[in-house]
Amino acid sequence: MDSLKPDSDPSAGALSPSAPLSGVPLSGTPLSGTPLSGTPLPDHALSDVPLSDVLAAPGNTPVNLLDFNLAQLETFVESLGEKRFRARQLMRWIHLYGQDDFSAMSDLARSLREKLAGRAVIAPPKLLASQQSDDGTQKWVLEVGAGNAIETVFIPEGDRGTLCVSSQVGCALACTFCSTGHQGFNRNLTTAEIIGQLWWANRALGRDPKGERIVSNVVMMGMGEPLANLDNVDAALDIMLDDFGYGLSRRRVTLSTSGIVPALDKLRERHPVALAVSLHAPNDALRDVIVPINRKYPLAELLAACKRYLAAAPRDFVTFEYVMLDGVNDTVAHAHELLALIHDVPCKFNLIPFNPFPNSIYRRSRSETISRFRDILMQAGYVVTVRRTRGDDIDAACGQLAGQVQDKSRRLERLTREGLR
Ligand code: SAH
Ligand code: SF4
Repeated sequence: MDSLKPDSDPSAGALSPSAPLSGVPLSGTPLSGTPLSGTPLPDHALSDVPLSDVLAAPGNTPVNLLDFNLAQLETFVESLGEKRFRARQLMRWIHLYGQDDFSAMSDLARSLREKLAGRAVIAPPKLLASQQSDDGTQKWVLEVGAGNAIETVFIPEGDRGTLCVSSQVGCALACTFCSTGHQGFNRNLTTAEIIGQLWWANRALGRDPKGERIVSNVVMMGMGEPLANLDNVDAALDIMLDDFGYGLSRRRVTLSTSGIVPALDKLRERHPVALAVSLHAPNDALRDVIVPINRKYPLAELLAACKRYLAAAPRDFVTFEYVMLDGVNDTVAHAHELLALIHDVPCKFNLIPFNPFPNSIYRRSRSETISRFRDILMQAGYVVTVRRTRGDDIDAACGQLAGQVQDKSRRLERLTREGLR
C-alpha cells in the first residue's frame, strides 16, 4: 500500500484496518483524565417524537437536551417561562464548553439552573472505553443500551482532525463486503447519541494552542446508513453546523451513503453537506449483488439524484467511494465502465482497499491492481485518493466499525438458514 498515493481528500478521512473488527469487547482502557457523565441515559429517543409531545408528556421524565437543536431548545426554555435567548446560552454551555452540569452554568440565573435540573438532563451515551493508536488515531466505545455498543474514531492528519461518527446500531442494508452489514440491524441512534459522539470527542481532545477545536471535520462514515435515520441525523447536523453548537462549515461535514434516493433529495433541501456515495460497482448487475439497495434505487436514479444534489451546492463535487475487491470490481474494463458511467457528474474518487473480517467472502485487490485502477481514473483527469491504513493496531475503521450489535432482525440466522452467507 505504501506505493499508493496517500489519502488527501477532506471527505475521506477514514481508516482501513488490516485487522477484522467484529466483536469489540465492552471493556477496555478507561479514558484517563476525562470526567464521565454520571447521568443515566433515558431509554427513549426524544427526537423521534415532536417536541410538543415531549413537553406535554405526563410524569417527570427529564428531557435530554442533547436531543435538541437550537429551535427545539428555544421552545423548551419558553415552556419554562424563560426568554428565547437563554437557549443560545444553554447551547454554548452544552456544545461549546462541553458542560453537563447545570450548576456550573454561571451566567444563568440560579432559578433557571434549578428549573433545568428538575426538568432536563445532558446525557451523552456512556463511555465504556477509549484506545489510542501508535499513529495518533483514537477510538471511543460508547454504550447505547441493551448490550449494544458503537464506536467513534478520531483521525489526526496534519492540521486537520476528522471524527468518524456512527448513525445506527448495525445496518439493515446488508452490503456483502461490510462487517456492519453482516451484523444486521438493531436500531437508529437518537440525536443525542449521534451528537454525543462529537460531544465526547471534543471534551476529550479540547482545543489546540491557537484555541481551535481539535476536531475540525466530521464524516458520517461509522456504523450504519445515515440516510436511513434522516430525522435524527438532520437534527444532529443542525447542531454541528450551528455557530452556538460546533460551528462547522457544511464542507467540513461529509455524509456517506450507499444511496437512498428520496432521503438524499431531502438532505439536499435541508443540509447540503459534502456528499460521499458508496458506488463500488460500475453497472447495475454487479451493484445489485454487492450493494443490495441498488435493486431499489439503481444507478441511473442514484446518479440523477447526485446531479440534483450538486445543483443545490454548485461548487461542490461528489466523492465516489469504491471498495477494491479482488477479481470482482477491479479490472481495467471495470475502470473504463466506471468512467463512462459517471462522465457527467462532477466527482472525485476514493478507492478503499477491502478490509477482510471473519466469514467475509472477498479478498482485497492486489496493490498493483489498485494502482492500475487509480491510474486509469487519473489519466482521465479525475482526482483519485486511495484510503490509507490507519489505526489498525486498535481495530479502528470508519465504514466497518463493528461495536457490539444485538441483531433485532435476526438477519444472520435467516441468511445462514437460507444458505446465503
Ligand atoms: N452506510 C454508509 C456509511 C458507512 S460505511 C455507506 O455505506 O456509505 C462507510 C464506507 O466504508 C462505505 O464506503 C463502505 O462501503 C465502506 N466499507 C464498508 N465495509 C468495508 C470493508 N470491509 N472494506 C472497505 N470498506 C468498507
Ligand atoms: Fe450499511 Fe454502509 Fe455497511 Fe452498506 S456499507 S451495510 S450501507 S454501513
